[in-house]
Amino acid sequence: MKSKSEIVEVKALPFAAGFNWSTGFQMQRFIQELANRKILGAKCPECGYTYVPPRSRCGKCYTKIGEENLINLSGKGTLVGYTTAYVKLDGQGNFQDLEEPGIIGAIKLENADSTIFMPLEGIKPRDVTEGLKVEVQWREETKGELADIRCFKPT
Ligand SMILES: [Zn+2]
Repeated sequence: MKSKSEIVEVKALPFAAGFNWSTGFQMQRFIQELANRKILGAKCPECGYTYVPPRSRCGKCYTKIGEENLINLSGKGTLVGYTTAYVKLDGQGNFQDLEEPGIIGAIKLENADSTIFMPLEGIKPRDVTEGLKVEVQWREETKGELADIRCFKPT
């Protein structure tokens, strides 16, 4: 057991970390195609499970998924779950109240099996129901970044 004199208490330190990582060719293609307002999925050649964002190996049957297995998805889908957020992080680790509650939807795109989690706008939280048909809303100028998908809205 340590004596009290050996315990160093640190209340806070400034901390910043930068990262570089490879997203792999599937994710790279996915992000590039967002500039063309296209959402790519990866369909497993063995079991047919379709992932969005695409991935290079099937999590169901472990089959390799190649570039030839990338498919275009329509950007339309169904809400299969959601949560309502009343606060956001301010970038300093503190919560701030949102002026209006925000909805984060779990969305299953047409012809995809996995779900994506995206902001849902254009509907009040009390009116949201699972099974709602939704459609992607692109930001005005798409640049090949994840932020090209602004949100989803009910159709
Ligand atoms: Zn598979």
